[in-house]
Amino acid sequence: MASLLRSKVVVVPMGEVDFMMVNKLASNLGPVFNRSVDILKGMKMPEESFNVVRNQYYAQVILAKIERAKANNREKVIAVCEEDLYVPEENYVISYVDRLSGTAVVSLYHLRQEFYGLPEDESKIYPRLFKEAIHRLAHLYELPECRNSKCVNYFSQMMLDIDNKGEKFCDICSRKLTGVV
Ligand SMILES: [Zn+2]
Repeated sequence: MASLLRSKVVVVPMGEVDFMMVNKLASNLGPVFNRSVDILKGMKMPEESFNVVRNQYYAQVILAKIERAKANNREKVIAVCEEDLYVPEENYVISYVDRLSGTAVVSLYHLRQEFYGLPEDESKIYPRLFKEAIHRLAHLYELPECRNSKCVNYFSQMMLDIDNKGEKFCDICSRKLTGVV
């Protein structure tokens, strides 16, 4: 019975995102959080999130849209998109999370090598997406940011930090996660 009450993770491909990559993400997240992961068939980028002046999408508005698609309160929903995201106090955000609504969004825009004038390299993008998604889901499960630079839950804003950290939780985060998951 308890297992039925466990909160599910739902992955949402948003806009014209690489579905193979999102699919791979969904299947790899399950073992990390020890629960079932569903993948929705896709959602359009909400038009109301587009800011013409900034030529970016407002992450908070996207989360509000995702929240309305939730089947129940226990679900943790994470969307993946290609578009450049922002919040008013930042130039851009790679991802954004709202604990209260249990929603998150990760963009591939700044994770792609092309953004840095480098050749496209799928083998780099996927691990970045995977780590960023785990990091954001950890927030949704109320794990505080980790100070261990090797931990997947490390607060990493620079791409180098994301590339350098591992794909696993450190012992401290693992223990905390077992407590909440
Ligand atoms: Zn940690």
